[in-house]
Amino acid sequence: MPFDNAAALDRALFHAREYLLHLDTTPVAPTASLECLRKRLVKPLAQGGLPAEQVIDELVADSAGGIMGCAGGRFFAWVVGGALPAALGADWLAAAWDQNAGIHASGPAAAVVEEAAGAWLKDLLNISSEASFAFVTGCNMAHVTCLAAARHRLLADRGWDVEERGLCGAPPIRIVTGNSRHGSFVRAARLVGLGKGSMVNLSVDEEERLRPETLEAELARNASAPTIVLLQAGELCTGAFDAFADLIPIARRYGAWVHIDGAFGLWAAASPRFRDYLNGSELADSWATDGHKWLNVPYDCGYAFVKDRASHQAAMSHRESYLIHDAEARDQMDWNPEWSRRARGFPTYAALRQLGRSGVAEVVERCCDCARALVLGIGSLPGAEVVWEPRINQGLVGFTDQDPNAVIAAVNASGEAYFGATTWRGRRVMRVSVSNWMTGEAEVARVIGAVREVLLTGRSI
Ligand SMILES: *Cc1c(COP(=O)(O)O)cnc(C)c1O
Repeated sequence: MPFDNAAALDRALFHAREYLLHLDTTPVAPTASLECLRKRLVKPLAQGGLPAEQVIDELVADSAGGIMGCAGGRFFAWVVGGALPAALGADWLAAAWDQNAGIHASGPAAAVVEEAAGAWLKDLLNISSEASFAFVTGCNMAHVTCLAAARHRLLADRGWDVEERGLCGAPPIRIVTGNSRHGSFVRAARLVGLGKGSMVNLSVDEEERLRPETLEAELARNASAPTIVLLQAGELCTGAFDAFADLIPIARRYGAWVHIDGAFGLWAAASPRFRDYLNGSELADSWATDGHKWLNVPYDCGYAFVKDRASHQAAMSHRESYLIHDAEARDQMDWNPEWSRRARGFPTYAALRQLGRSGVAEVVERCCDCARALVLGIGSLPGAEVVWEPRINQGLVGFTDQDPNAVIAAVNASGEAYFGATTWRGRRVMRVSVSNWMTGEAEVARVIGAVREVLLTGRSI
């Protein structure tokens, strides 16, 4: 059996290295059609098995052309990020060690690595060292975790034990957000039983930020309702940050719980150049962010942080006689929504060790510089214009002569880059998100050249 393992791992290493080595010459966009992928991959389940190395080889062959090139530095459609070498290596080890990181007893090193990395993250992200944390699958589940803690505290304050009694008959919770909030937060609210109907979507200013007077007017409208206020660090199109230092004290006056969606934007705190955007964010009650975006850790990796540790623990913790709990150790299931889980602390730990403080700042700043260079560079091509100049790593470009969807499709079809489109203030535009550690000046120049080619030759028409 060990022999089988070695053969399959050797093949996986070989294919992974080949893939990463050739990112520069492989089209970014997938080239295989849905039909082709189904034909290759959707096989009848065989009666007999295959040698492990053959399974790996065939998986690679059958997936060819169906792998999106987001591991490399020319993917800008969504805020996704790649995988730093140390993080990728540690991720492989997490799989090889196959730890169940549910409790300390089932994987002691996995638990201690989360303690260490959790403390580093709080330090980098301008969050109190007293806050509790959870390593979850992504920002969506970080929202769920934080909302469960918020729900506990707001209802406990009103004499309602939500873990015991559930939400039926409980005082209704109001969620106040700006109308440019991310859809993952809406899903999280649905999952914890708060529902879309509990959300009040307020209008935002020209930078997609909540206005203090709008927030205050809504809170005053029903001053005693248990309320969660969602603020944003890094809006999806503009990268905008809510004015935390102005907004959070208002929410406090009304006893509201303040949650920050900082899926990528919270990472601005790690950069001396950009950290002022987060002034006041430390006043919040909970924060959600991702490792698999700007920190460039492989999927799946997000982080939840909660100032009120007791509420966080009350929402998540569970005890069974067959589990082992060490009073000194940190059991992840006291803080996580999952039971059995991947030891996802290892890649985060490795990423932070590889980069160090200055390395995280460098990746953040380089991505912002590249986003700016891309948006200004593409925006100055004939037939294009800058619609949103990046403040951080997000920007928008418009096209004046040709259909933006067609331009973007042509750029993507060229294999040189991959962009997405969005409708922003009624206009179809190209979204530019830069969050991969591999994006640098060379990629920016190459991609601007590819867009120029499409615009000049009218290849999109
Ligand atoms: C990506 C993103 C999310 C969702 O994060 P996942 O890791 O995909 O669950 C939430 N909010 C913002 C602003 C995002 O960019």
